[in-house]
Formats: sequence, structure tokens, C-alpha cells
Amino acid sequence: MKPGFCQVAIDTPLRRLFDYRLPEPPEAALPGARVRVPFGRQRVTGVVVSHSATTEVPQEKLRAVEAVLDATPLLSVEDVELLRWAADYYHHPVGEVFATALPKTLRAGRPAQAMRRCWRLTAAGHDALRADSLRRAHRQRELLAHIAAHEDCDDAALDAALSNWRAHARALQEKGLLQTSEQPQNKDAGTPPAPAPAAGPVLTAAQERAVAHLTSADVSGAFLLDGVTGSGKTEVYLRVVGEVLARGRAALVLCPEIGLTPQLLQRFEQRFGVPMAALHSGLTDTERARAWHAAASDQARIIIGTRSAVFTPIPRLGLIVVDEEHDASYKQQEGGFRYSARDLALLRGQRRGVPVVLGSATPSFESLHNVSLGRLTHIELPERAGKAQPPRLALIDMRAHAVHKGIAAPLRHAIQRHLDAGAQVLLYLNRRGYAPTLLCQSCGWIAPCRSCDARLTVHQGRERLACHHCGAEEPKPQRCPRCGYELHPLGHGTERVEETLAEMFPGIAVERFDRDSLRAPSQLNQAIERVHSGAARILVGTQMLTKGHHFPDVTLVGVLNADQSLFSTDFRAAERLAQTIVQVAGRAGRAERPGEVLIQSQYAAHPMLTMLLEQGYSGFAAGALAERDAAHWPPFARLAVLRASDTTAEGALRFLREVKALLPAPAGVLLRGPVPAAMSRRADRYHAQLLVESRQRSRLQKFLGEWMAAVETLKPPRTLRWALDVDPLEVL
Ligand code: ADP
Ligand code: ZN
Repeated sequence: MKPGFCQVAIDTPLRRLFDYRLPEPPEAALPGARVRVPFGRQRVTGVVVSHSATTEVPQEKLRAVEAVLDATPLLSVEDVELLRWAADYYHHPVGEVFATALPKTLRAGRPAQAMRRCWRLTAAGHDALRADSLRRAHRQRELLAHIAAHEDCDDAALDAALSNWRAHARALQEKGLLQTSEQPQNKDAGTPPAPAPAAGPVLTAAQERAVAHLTSADVSGAFLLDGVTGSGKTEVYLRVVGEVLARGRAALVLCPEIGLTPQLLQRFEQRFGVPMAALHSGLTDTERARAWHAAASDQARIIIGTRSAVFTPIPRLGLIVVDEEHDASYKQQEGGFRYSARDLALLRGQRRGVPVVLGSATPSFESLHNVSLGRLTHIELPERAGKAQPPRLALIDMRAHAVHKGIAAPLRHAIQRHLDAGAQVLLYLNRRGYAPTLLCQSCGWIAPCRSCDARLTVHQGRERLACHHCGAEEPKPQRCPRCGYELHPLGHGTERVEETLAEMFPGIAVERFDRDSLRAPSQLNQAIERVHSGAARILVGTQMLTKGHHFPDVTLVGVLNADQSLFSTDFRAAERLAQTIVQVAGRAGRAERPGEVLIQSQYAAHPMLTMLLEQGYSGFAAGALAERDAAHWPPFARLAVLRASDTTAEGALRFLREVKALLPAPAGVLLRGPVPAAMSRRADRYHAQLLVESRQRSRLQKFLGEWMAAVETLKPPRTLRWALDVDPLEVL
């Protein structure tokens, strides 16, 4: 029978597809193509998901597709299936899932046309070239001259002509010497053959084995590239990607942070002169659409991006790399569609029959468990590449030593020693601002956030108090509003540590890395530059410093406070703590000089810390996994959390009680709660949650499906918001 109807994904919170009458011939609106359809009293853009010969919608209610927006489907059948699967697994409205996968311009029904970015000199640019004012910036001058000499110079043309030009182009753009415009892509632009890659270092034996394994004939499957920090995982990615390109295929490389994207991009750019596309949250809508089209139209050979890049259509996909696979940012933790890009990458690779490489120095416990189940092939890089040695780790018991403003005497001496040796020092503290608390020493008043169950953090430089949960700010009061006595900042944040270091080590330049000191990506790049040039001697910062950076002259790493997660109730706290310590420790001694890592703690005898130091990450993980097994936590149990918030504490709890009562939990599925969240009040909303757990994924999935269908029939008050979080990262 000829299909007369199609099922369309439309961006609404309703958990279903919508039937429409197909145009003639039905092939005009193939699955994966966008269509314009009437929806209520509106016209909306949707994506055709499937065709059918019958429909349950009564004739008189059935409406027709009004216009087909893509003559050739925008998404392949596989892309459509991946999105449908994601909607099913995360129990999220399918139309919203499709909307997540498309750039805004396409969601809005704009024509799908591959665009290219063309570069031109501004008038000032021509002047600069004529006056030869860029004599000192040799590469910038070269780039400017090249663009001046070539008409219609786009990214692809520059990729083919020059290596590593993007950073220079950005700099010239910032100086107002270059400008860009968007031009439609020529249909028959075709892909130029990939030029031979630049040479890399001679591989270590372990790298050699890893590359051989990952590039052996018709390799598919999933791999855990478990390599200590500095072992050369990126070099392995580069070689494997090189093989993929040589076979005429494209590679998708996912990375956790926008801050890391330029560096990773640069390493790939230096190696391969092929068109690349970068997809991350820092792009404008046009930039995003351009990168998306470059991937979807088979122009880009390497696609590098953060979480949502996992959905990018890539016709000749040959490999997926997930770098730092343990990183929490792969899991969407806000809004409704809370997917894991790592897990979807594994699924996508499996369906497509292309290899997926998960890389980390501190693999997630899920991945280690999957290795033991045989679902991931374990490839290890046990040693650092080049001449670098593994760093020595030691604990400093803060209760046994004199501590001055958060820095214990042994750490202070070590800093002096490493500075005297001409090296750089990195200090990690997971707390930005000056001090986490402002206290009245007379009456005990503590500056509270008016909207959250939280204290305000002192930001001394700005003379303000800020809430790190809702973003509220207020001027810092001079005196206690309750008794009029003096106020004192209590505890230490990065801003205060910076001040302390300046006092302790006069004349030594300190560079602070956190979200306050480095608001723009260009500021981050400048700070990194000051570290590389040696202008900065001590680096102090938050999480930002722990990830990916390669600072060859850092020989001492200090963890100022390891205690924040020792007593957390979250089941993942131990895993996170170990990952953070090992990752930040990995910044020490990455070149010839050996590294030293000192970890300050009030609880230096805590088994979590001693176990990590004695047994290393893998020993620690094995022990912690056994505990998870005994306590029925993931990966040995499957979890979902239904989270709700409302303007009253009771409202959120009432809704969750109602939801709980909708269906009895079947055998093998347990419902716990509802309970208020650990920090219940946030931005004047009260949060509560209901935990669903099962030893079996299939049982949990079946129950969630029935349950969500029932939840949809409820009519909660307008103030209430809820979201289901499948495989939550935390259940606080
Ligand atoms: P990881 O990603 O595992 O932390 P990287 O790939 O960033 O490690 O490599 C760490 C450092 O070692 C980099 O400076 C890199 O250029 C260098 N490196 C990698 N492989 C080799 C090798 N085979 N020989 C010499 N140096 C190498
Ligand atoms: Zn707040």
C-alpha cells in the first residue's frame, strides 16, 4: 500500500508525533526532511520521522503537509533513529529532542544551505598591509597578505593554504583588520583530497599498540583509552583520525569544555590541512549553522564540539572520540532533555558500526564497569610520553602544622623551593571569590542569600557579595546590619589566596584562573600565554585549571582543600574527588623536571585520601566500585530522579506525592521519597525529588514509560516545573 501519511516531530512538550497527510508524490517528504505544517492555529516547522499507510486520526481532523522545506532530507535515517531512541530512553518529548539537534536557523524554517565564511581585509587592514605595520607579527602579516592576494578566500581555502591560521585570523579580526561574510556554498564544491598530515612525534610502544588496535582492519566497537595524564592520548587520537581521513571518512571529536576547544582544534589544525568544523556553545546562530552545514554536507572532515555536537549529522562518519569521557559536562543537567553525550556517542557508534574511543586518565566508574563486563575494550597507556615522570603525591595534615591564611608551612616551603628552582607552581582551590562567608564576630550574623538556602560569597575586589547559586549580588555592608559590629570574611576563595600569595612571595607574579578573573575566552588565552611565556610564576584557580592544560614548567601542584567532598552524601562524591585530585596532580611535571603534588587536608587520615595515594586511581576505583555494588548504587543499579520545583516547599512535594501515587511500583522497581533537595530553596524556588531505582535497566525503562504517560495527564499549577533525569549524575 502506498504511504499516505507521515509522522512529524514538532517542538512541543507533548510526548508524541503528529500525523499529517503526505503530499504527492510521498517521496517529496522523506523522513529526515523538514516540513511546514498547520498546528493548532499556527504554522510550525517540523521534521518528518516516518511514513505510514494508515492513521488513527479521523479524516475530518487530519491536515496536510503545507510545504516541504528540504528536497533532500536534512537528517539521514540513522540520525532520525538516534534522536527517536534518545527521546525514548530519556523519556523526553520527541519534538523537543529534534529541536535540540537542529541549529536555530533551521528550526525556524530557514533554507538549509551550506554557507561558507569568506575573509576580506578592512580598509584598516589594507592600510596596515601597505604600511607594513605588522612586521613583528610575522604569521599575522602572512595571513593578511594571503587574503589580500586571493579573491573569495574562505575557511576551506585557508585550510588548504596555511596551517594553524585561525588564531591569527581571530587576532586580526579583533584588531579590526579583517572582516568576514557569509556566502552560499557552491553545490558542486566537492571535497578536496586530504593532504598528507604533518609529522608527529615517534610513538611510544604503548601508543603504538593503541593505534594499531584502533586502526586494525574493519575495526568497530567501543574502547576505553585509559592513559595517565600526559601519556599522549591526544597523539593517539590524532593518529587514528589520520587513518580515518585517509579512508575518506570524517571524525567526530567530543570534548567537555568550550575553554578546551581552541587548543584541541589547534592541535588537529596543525596536523591536518583539512576543513574542520567546531561546534560549541560560544557560537552565534550563524556560526553554529555554518559549522553544522559543513558537517552535514560532508565538507568538514573533522568535527570538534562539546555535548550537543553528538547530534551533528555526518554522512561519512568513521570514528567518534570522546575526550575526558568522565567529565560531568557530557551530561546535560539543566532543562528538560537531560541526555548524556557520552552514552549517546556509544550508541551512535554501535548503530553505525564505527569505533568509539572514550579517553581519560580517570575513567568514570561506569566505563570501568563496562570494561569488566566486556562492553568496552580496555587500552592502557600506563606511562607518560617523552621524558616526563609521574609526579609524587603526598598529604599535608593541616592539624599538625602551622597554617597561615589557608596555606600550611610545608606547602609554603615547597612553593619557595620550586620557585627558587625557577619553576612554576599551580594551586587548586574549588572556590572562587574572596571568602565563602561574611561573619559578624560579635553577634554571629552571617550574610545570607535572600533567595537561596545559601550564604553569600565575599568578592572583595568588586566590594560585593554574590550568591553562587542564583547569581544575586549586593554591595558588601560595612557593618553588621544586626548589631553594627565589624564584619569579617571567613574562609578562603581564590581571590583571597591570590592576595595571600602576593604577601608571602613578594615580587612573584600570580595568575588567577576562575570565572571572575577570566570572563571572556580571549582573557583565558592571554592568561595561558602569560603562563607559557613565564611572566606568571604561581597559578591559582578553580576547576578551570585542572582540565587538559599543558604547562611544561609547572613542577609543584598544591591542592589547598581536599575536604569539601569527603563527607558528601552523594554516591558519586568519592569518584569526583579522586578524579579532581588525579587530574590536577596531572598538571605537575609534564616535561623534563619531575613533579611534586601536595594535598592539604584537615582529615589526612581519611581512608578516601589514603587509599587514593596508596593504590592510585585504579585501585581506588576498584574499592569504591565494590562499595557501590554493596550499596546498590550505579552502575550496579539504574536510577532516575524526578525533580520538581515550585514557589512553595509544599507545592513541589505535593506534586511528587501525586505522581508517586499514579502507579504502583512494579516488582524490582523501588520508589524513594519524595524528599526536599539538599539545598531546597534556590532562586526563590523550592526543589524536591523522587528517586526511582532498579537493578535492571529494562524494568526501569518500562516503568518510566508508563509512568510518564500517566504524569502527562496531571494538571499541576502553572508555577510548578518538573523534569525527569535518567542516569542522574547526582542525587543530592
Ligand atoms: P594526554 O592527552 O594523555 O594528557 P597529550 O597527548 O596532551 O597527553 O601529551 C602530553 C605531552 O606529551 C604533549 O606535549 C605531547 O606533545 C607529548 N607527546 C605525546 N606523545 C609523545 C611521544 N610519542 N613522544 C614525545 N612526546 C609526546
Ligand atoms: Zn541565591
